[in-house]
This record gives sequence, C-alpha cells and structure tokens, in this order.
Amino acid sequence: MAAPEQAIAPDRLRDEVRELTRELIRIDTSNPPGRESVAAEFLAGYLSEAGVEAELAGPDPERLSLIARVAGTGEGPSLMLMAHTDVVPAPDADWTVPPFAGELRDGRVIGRGAADMKGELAARAVAFAEIARGEDPPAGDVLLLAESDEERNTYDVGMSWLMRERADLRCDYALNEGGGILLELAGGRRVVTISIGEKQVASLRLRFHGRAGHASVPAGADNVLARAADAVRRLLSHDAPARLTPAIAAALEGLGAPVAAGAEAAVEWAAGQHPVLAGMVPAMTRLTVTPTGLKTHEPANVIPPFADVICDCRALPGQGLDDVCEHVERALDGIEHELELLEPLTGGTASAIDTPLYRVCEEHVRERLPGAELLPVVTPGFTDSHWVRAAHGTVAYGFAPVFSTPLDVYLGGMHGADEAIDVADLAEMTALSLRAIRSLGA
Ligand SMILES: [Zn+2]
Repeated sequence: MAAPEQAIAPDRLRDEVRELTRELIRIDTSNPPGRESVAAEFLAGYLSEAGVEAELAGPDPERLSLIARVAGTGEGPSLMLMAHTDVVPAPDADWTVPPFAGELRDGRVIGRGAADMKGELAARAVAFAEIARGEDPPAGDVLLLAESDEERNTYDVGMSWLMRERADLRCDYALNEGGGILLELAGGRRVVTISIGEKQVASLRLRFHGRAGHASVPAGADNVLARAADAVRRLLSHDAPARLTPAIAAALEGLGAPVAAGAEAAVEWAAGQHPVLAGMVPAMTRLTVTPTGLKTHEPANVIPPFADVICDCRALPGQGLDDVCEHVERALDGIEHELELLEPLTGGTASAIDTPLYRVCEEHVRERLPGAELLPVVTPGFTDSHWVRAAHGTVAYGFAPVFSTPLDVYLGGMHGADEAIDVADLAEMTALSLRAIRSLGA
C-alpha cells in the first residue's frame, strides 16, 4: 500500500507529537480505576508552555478532564478537538514490550493508548498548541477537551458530566476518534473511513419459564434450559434486515454497490470489498441482539424454574424498543419469553455529511492520497461523540488519518497487545487538525 511521500508536518511538530505521545503512554490511566487527573495535569503543563492556561474539571478529583480554549476572532465556527485520556487495562501476557514505557521502535510508538487514543490526543494537543503559539488567532474558538472515563463510561465523571454541567463547551464542530483508516478495496480503489455516527447500545434480559423439578429424575421434566439453548442458537443465526441511511446509501453507491437492487445486495457487495468492511458494513446497517450470558437457578440438583439469556443489543440511529422486540419475536419464532431492558437504548446519534468539516476531511484525503475517497461509516460501538451531538447538536466526526501503520498492527493493538502507531501517522493527524482549524471559517 503506497503511503504518502511528502512530509506532512514539519520535523519540529513530528518530534513534538512523538514525544508527547510517549509521555502520555507512560502515565498509566488504565480504567478502572482511571486516575486520569495525572494525565490532565501533565497536559496542562505542556499547554502552559504554549501560553495556554488550561482548566481541570469534573466531580472526582482523581478523574478530572482538561479543558483549554484558544479564542477566535468570532468570524468562524467553533471547533472542539476531543480525546479521552483513559485506556483499557493492559494485562502483560502477550506484550513484547512493557505496555506503559512509551517505547519507540522503527518509527513506531508502542504502548497502551498508542492507537486508542493517546496518539490522537497528542496530535490534537500539538495542533492546538501550535495555533496558540501562532501570531494569527483562528476564525472561531478552538477547544481542546481531554476527557476521562470513555472506556467504561459508567461513573458520570467524564463527558456525560461535562456536557450536562458545562454549557460553555458547546461547539459547532468536533473531531474525535472512530475513523481515518485507509482501506484498499478489491478493485484497487482506496477509501478512508470517517465515522459519522454511532449505534445505540442497550442490554436486555430474555426470561424463559419452565417447571422446577428434581434433577435426579430428568425424564419427562420440562427443562427450561433446552428452550434457552434453542433461543440462543436462533438469536445467533437470525439477521435483522439491512437498513441504509441516505448518507451510507450514497457512499456505497459511489463505490459501485448495487444500491438500486436493495439494501441487502448493497451490504453484501460492500462486505466483499475488504476484510474490514466484511465485519463493519453488516454491523453498521443492522440491528443486532447478541447473547452474552446465561443465568439460572442454583443448586445443580434442581431443574430450574426459569432461565435468563442476557443479550447485548445495538440498534441503528432512529430505531426504538419496538424494533428490538420485533427482531427478538422473529428470531425466537414462537418460543415464549419475557423481554426486559436492563439498560435503556442510549447513544445512536449521527451527523450530516454536507458540512464544511466533512469537506475539510475530504480535501485532506484527496490531497494526501490522490484517487482515494472518504467512506462514511457508523461505529457499531460507543464513542464520546454521542455526548456532544446529543447536548448541543454539534457536528462530530471520528476522523484521525492512519495512512502508514499497517491495519493489522493498528486494529489488532486496540484493546489488544503491542498497541502501536507510526510516527508518520501522528504527524498526519497533527496536520489534519491544523488544516481543520485553519480551514473552518476561512
Ligand atoms: Zn477510544
């Protein structure tokens, strides 16, 4: 795969973003417990050298987020550069380097958070500092937000708290994680993903009833586990119908997918274009209900009166509980059950693509990788982009260009071992952020 050749950012910024990434990796913010304040304080120190006084905010002194602002002239829209400071834990087993040492090997930074997402955080912070150091103020306000508790998102100390308590964080646009990978398709075309939305997340319990009995006399008993096991098999093999939003339909059609032949045909075609799309496209166009747990009654010598199948549920933006119930009804095809939501559907917001920030990303890709196009995708998981869209209608995209790091290294390291990012990509991300700041409102 041909990587862009010309230097994307000056050597000075490339060195700065590389070293800042390594420093951030060395601050262990594994969540739980997080303890992101140490990273936020370190970042505040870095920004103070660029003349910016950052604020640390949040309800838990050990889990503060960083907020910094460069005031614009008021002639352009405001832009938030976002990144979470926490990382998932790094059990040592498969790592070939210490995960929190910030090692550098063959032009690649290796360590927990290199890809998710201390590298992106460093790139956005360096671009932000560069603007702060410069003579010319940006057209609109630029905010840097380094938030805590994204990976677990259960303690109300990060974005959920900030968006509820701090109306001053409202921005027109935001750049966050979730897209930017370069895919070389079957026909030789190249696309770069940009995340424009996320699916909704819920968890639910399906309860199946039977009749309790003594396990020593199993013959003729109504053993509910048989029905629960059947239900699990049916849920796993039942696909919800594919649904294409207008933006995704247009993007797939642009690639050559037979959209006129229907959503199913278009999804099947797109899934065949690249191994990454084989997983991503079906997930981003269908509601999913995936069994992830089985619970029943103990002790072992009792045939239980009921069995619960716990499921992870991901719905498309715009879908509701009715769609979930209908999907489960169809999958179970007559197996009697009770459905209860353990957590309500949350998230599931999306941004339009007809916007100046989208065009900035598009321009960056076309200029850096001639012939390549942006491919809008919906992230099957959750990101903090949801909070800014829901609170203020902010147009938020997941976009951090990864043109140099091999995909298996980049994607395999996220939440896995030997997480890594090429220094070339850190420079690329820095350049993209600078372009966004300078282009919006220009
Ligand atoms: Zn992340």
